[in-house]
Amino acid sequence: MLIYPVHEMFASIQGEGHWAGTPAIFIRLQGCSVGCSWCDTKDSWPSAEGTDVTERIDRMCAAYPAIRHVVITGGEPCQFDLVPLIRYLGKRFRWVQIETSGYFDPPKYHGSYWLTVSPKAFRPDFNLKCIKSATELKIVVGSYDDVQFAQACKNENPTAHFYIQPMSDQKNAVDICTTIAMTNDWKISARIHKLLGLK
Ligand code: SF4
Repeated sequence: MLIYPVHEMFASIQGEGHWAGTPAIFIRLQGCSVGCSWCDTKDSWPSAEGTDVTERIDRMCAAYPAIRHVVITGGEPCQFDLVPLIRYLGKRFRWVQIETSGYFDPPKYHGSYWLTVSPKAFRPDFNLKCIKSATELKIVVGSYDDVQFAQACKNENPTAHFYIQPMSDQKNAVDICTTIAMTNDWKISARIHKLLGLK
C-alpha cells in the first residue's frame, strides 16, 4: 500500500531545469503552505486525506511503458514520508526526481534519486539540510534581490546543478536572468512545457 494524497498524475515533458525535454510521469501530491504569489498550481495548496495510489501508478506505467523518468512534485512532497514511494518507483523508472521548495527535510532514502530544490527569496528560512542535499538548485528570479538570494543558495551547495528561472516568464525577469547568466556563466531554466502548451 502506498498512501498519499495525490492531486493529479499525468504524463508530459519535464519543462524545467536539468531534465528539460525529458518525457516523464508526474505525480503531484496535494498540500503546500509555502504561498508563492506566482504559483501556477494553487489548487494543490489545501491538504487532503491520503489514499492507496499503487494501482494508479501501475496503470500509468502500463499506459506509458517507454517513459523512464518520474517526477514527484506538488504541492510540497517533502512534507510526507516519501521513502516507500521512491522505493516503489525506483524499481520501475530510471530516475526518480523530487521537486521540493526546500522547507522540509529531504527524504531519508539512501538509494539514488534526484532532488531538485527551489527555495524562495521571500522565504529565506529554508531548510539548510535540504539545500545541502540538493542534486539541483533552481531559483526563481524576478529581481536583482532574488539574484543575491540565488547566490546565497549556491554558496551553500556549490556542487549542485544550478539554474535561475525567470519569474512567470516576465520580460524584466527574463532580462535580469539573461544579464546575470551571461556575466556569471549561470544556466537559465526556461519552462519549455509552457512554450509547448503542455501541463
Ligand atoms: Fe506553489 Fe511550489 Fe510555491 Fe507551493 S512551493 S506555493 S506548490 S510554487
